[in-house]
Amino acid sequence: GRYTKQDIIDLVRENDVQFIRLQFSDLFGAMKNVAITARQLEKALDNKCTFDGSSVDGFVRIEESDMYLYPDLDSFLIFPWSSGGRVARLICDVYGQDGMPFEGDPRNILKRVMRECKKMGYKFNVGPECEFFLFHTDEEGQPTTLSHEKAGYFDVAPLDLGESARRDMILNLEEMGFEIEASHHEVAPAQHEIDFKYDNALRTADNILTFKFVVKYIAKRHGLYASFMPKPITGVDGSGMHLNMSLWKDGKNIFADSKNHIGVSDEAFYFMAGVMKHAREMSLITNPLVNSYKRIVPGYEAPVDVTWSPANRSPLIRVPAARGSGTRLEFRSPDPAANPYLALAVSLASGLEGIRGKLTPGKGTSKNQYEMAEGEKKEAGIMMLPRDLKEALDIFENSDFIRKTLGNHIFTKYYEAKKKEWESYQKFVSQWEIDEYLYKI
Ligand code: GLU
Ligand code: MG
Ligand code: MG
Repeated sequence: GRYTKQDIIDLVRENDVQFIRLQFSDLFGAMKNVAITARQLEKALDNKCTFDGSSVDGFVRIEESDMYLYPDLDSFLIFPWSSGGRVARLICDVYGQDGMPFEGDPRNILKRVMRECKKMGYKFNVGPECEFFLFHTDEEGQPTTLSHEKAGYFDVAPLDLGESARRDMILNLEEMGFEIEASHHEVAPAQHEIDFKYDNALRTADNILTFKFVVKYIAKRHGLYASFMPKPITGVDGSGMHLNMSLWKDGKNIFADSKNHIGVSDEAFYFMAGVMKHAREMSLITNPLVNSYKRIVPGYEAPVDVTWSPANRSPLIRVPAARGSGTRLEFRSPDPAANPYLALAVSLASGLEGIRGKLTPGKGTSKNQYEMAEGEKKEAGIMMLPRDLKEALDIFENSDFIRKTLGNHIFTKYYEAKKKEWESYQKFVSQWEIDEYLYKI
């Protein structure tokens, strides 16, 4: 590892850190934290800090509520800003009173699938592309969906009002150890993207949570509100969280193979086929909100069906142009509302199944999927992604594969919560219905 216990104790002392946030993820990928003072550090490093698990969504019942936090020493970092004392953080695994990893901790689920991957001799690397909007707040400081900005793809300042906020985000992220590879204005007005370097799946999932936190925090300092909502505005692009995935062996990217079809290895195609096989079942994880499915529609660079392509941006999986160590599969349906631990766990488990079974993804498509007629798709055996949360719920509920990958605890709690969300939505009369029907009927 990067740090020993003693390193952390020294770093906290030398940098005059006063508070340490012990962080973990709830079922939906929301960052939770218990803050301790520097005096409690040794206790925390000895895995002796507890919290009340019954107050965390999807965790445990009151009767068995004491849970333990085991800090991941390598996740230690000191936040670059200070507000009345320096603050550091440690990302933790959640353990039960029995000393066993808690089955409702998404981080543990991802670690389990990564162990399987390791047994097969591979390392799984992922680089995410998180898109988000920067909106204005109202007089009360509440977020709106308004922006005065009219900039588009790759436009530069002064059109891009978010540019200084975005720069500030990048500088802070770099100070926290992120390697920012690219950032730009996205297609829709007020939409942005910041890409950081790939890492192993666990580190990347941790990074995604930290990234969202930093983006929101810095946006606020600029008087803006950052939203990762998948489709905040009708009629323009939504926000995706494309996952660039590759498998490595002995320090080499095994998705590259210059002698094979389009320079991509058989393993990459097997992996791709596995992800395509289970893409519909995992939609409830990769696209977890009612709103997620308003992004998954034709015309806005988000996939609508289960296809792959060497280049075109409308299919589910794209193989970007880079070869050699940059060879990767870009999985395009996930959105930034997804719990990254679970999304990476189900993606990896699917890909590994593809490799074990030597599954093949069929012919790639060079067609724009948005322009293909539904009949044509049916004939070609192309499956559609779920059209709404209800369809995603039904497919998820019947998936033994997903149940096995997530374990009973998360599978059940997650399903129940999402079902409630759908039922609440279904009862709600929306503005669209009023506009469409009130005066006509
Ligand atoms: N915003 C698009 C989406 O919803 C993706 C645009 C891009 O290709 O970067 O996935
Ligand atoms: Mg993008
Ligand atoms: Mg992309």
